[in-house]
Amino acid sequence: MCGIIGYTGTSNALPKMMKGLSVLEYRGYDSVGVAAQRGKETEIMKCKGRIGALEEKLRDHPIEGSHCAIGHTRWATHGGPSDENAHPHRAGEVILVHNGIIENYKELRAELADKGVAFLSETDTEVAAALINDCYAVSRDPIKAIRSATARMKGAFAFGILFDGHVGEVYVIRRGSPLILARGADGYYLASDMTALLPFTREYCAMKENEIARLAPDGVRIYLSDQTEVAPDWKTTTMTPESAQKGGYDHFMLKEIHEQPQAVVKSVSPRVGKTGLPDFSSDGIEADFWRGVKSIQIVACGSAMHAGLVGIRLIEDLAKVPTTVHIASEYRYHPPIMPDGTLVVVISQSGETADTLAALRYAKENGVPTLAIVNAVETTIAREADRRIYTYAGPEIAVATTKGYCTQASVLWMIAAAIAHATGRISDEKAREVVQSLLCDVPAAMEQMLSREDRYRKIARGLIDHEHVFYIGRGVDYALSMEAALKLKEISYIHCEAYAAGELKHGTISLIEPGTPVLAISTEKDLFDKTESNIREVRSRGAQVTLICRSDIPVHQETADELISLPVSSDAATVFSALLAIQCIAYETASLLGCDIDRPRNLAKSVTVE
Ligand code: GLU
Repeated sequence: MCGIIGYTGTSNALPKMMKGLSVLEYRGYDSVGVAAQRGKETEIMKCKGRIGALEEKLRDHPIEGSHCAIGHTRWATHGGPSDENAHPHRAGEVILVHNGIIENYKELRAELADKGVAFLSETDTEVAAALINDCYAVSRDPIKAIRSATARMKGAFAFGILFDGHVGEVYVIRRGSPLILARGADGYYLASDMTALLPFTREYCAMKENEIARLAPDGVRIYLSDQTEVAPDWKTTTMTPESAQKGGYDHFMLKEIHEQPQAVVKSVSPRVGKTGLPDFSSDGIEADFWRGVKSIQIVACGSAMHAGLVGIRLIEDLAKVPTTVHIASEYRYHPPIMPDGTLVVVISQSGETADTLAALRYAKENGVPTLAIVNAVETTIAREADRRIYTYAGPEIAVATTKGYCTQASVLWMIAAAIAHATGRISDEKAREVVQSLLCDVPAAMEQMLSREDRYRKIARGLIDHEHVFYIGRGVDYALSMEAALKLKEISYIHCEAYAAGELKHGTISLIEPGTPVLAISTEKDLFDKTESNIREVRSRGAQVTLICRSDIPVHQETADELISLPVSSDAATVFSALLAIQCIAYETASLLGCDIDRPRNLAKSVTVE
């Protein structure tokens, strides 16, 4: 999931590399490096650590006067974070940055070693560089060398490549990993995603699998695998440079939490027809399509999978369509039976999640219709699925998702309403009510919840000295608990487990001791009494309880140590308010602990490896 960038043109390349890499850091931050051409020479500067470490190196040894360069920020997969394993890697006349994994690198490495190639790093990337160099030694043609070398590679890659002697030229290819090209007034760019290039241009061209591009100051040429040339299809992104900046917030995560009320509106409103009913025709999905759906399998990873767990409740409750949720990395190993009428729904914020992509491809190979819920437009998952629904959340930079998850849940809510309405399970009136609750009640309730910072901070203070925390809930609150526990773990590093409230007593309650924090969520009125009994069980064993609960339930003072009341203007408003509370509690906890909130250790935003 590394981030790659490149530039060739008339301006100074280094400042562009540094600026772009600082945006791409969310994709990985184990090491960082650049390769910059200066005349016929190419200088490589790279080191373990983050962009600051490279800046320091460049202060001591500045690289000036380069107009053509490539850069990389790494999330290590093959070989630990170190100077040696940092990209760019040079092999002979080839210098390369890579995002992805070369799965057959061991065989290739052994073969090249037999030919006398010596390797300096443990990475699969250096093997790719050496293989391209080996092919280049024969053909002396960069395009041919890339074509024949990549034909032998298994796995996923996006490469930015420089060849000695090809001044001002950057070569690019992708298979499985993301990559876009862009055109500015002063030259041409490549990057793993558009946010890195927003400071320079908004004109981009998405690269298709296996295309090779040659970037030079006078233009871009794109070649298909049969060597024919195609013209780049330039488009203008609606993203602005501001959308990839913190805008006065301390962290991207906080900014993105605050953007959620608007993000829900942006993801719901394009799916509302003139009569106020759910209508996905702007996504190319008509009511007839929904009528043909007899069962749904939602496949995703991490938070997106948790959004699916909220979705399953809605789709089954409202639309009465049997729905299951699957962890994408497991899907292929025990795929469920897919009877006629099955729809596979994959969910991925980045649209590049490798596990989810593999599951999508599996479903397609089995002839099952697929629908992708994706945030980043024109990404691999969005392109490969039969149908796609964009969440329009805008760029999400913080590694821990907030608005991504929230918009996925709101789109699933709309899908549930669309199916229920198309199949006559709910009336026009009920369908309009669901739409209105998402468009009006949810943003208003979330705004209201945003103003309770002090409460979240107080609750966070009660968590920071503990090694273990529990979230409990029933029904949809169990699904929310799973997301809450993940959020807390990933950014504060406090171990947190989500439990179905009724399940705790079947074993895990033995972990509750005096002072253990337990946070209980209760957004469903009918389930409160039972959840309250579970709260009593842990409280009588000394747990410190925070209850996040609908405001229309009278809560006895002894039930919890802390209470967060949720607006009840609609079911959706209550659920999304609880979501906001659990995100803010995680944020405040990590903030009190001084954690690197936007860049938690060992993680990366877009997981493009399996
Ligand atoms: N496999 C490469 C490495 O470990 C790139 C990793 C990635 O893109 O995630 O350096």
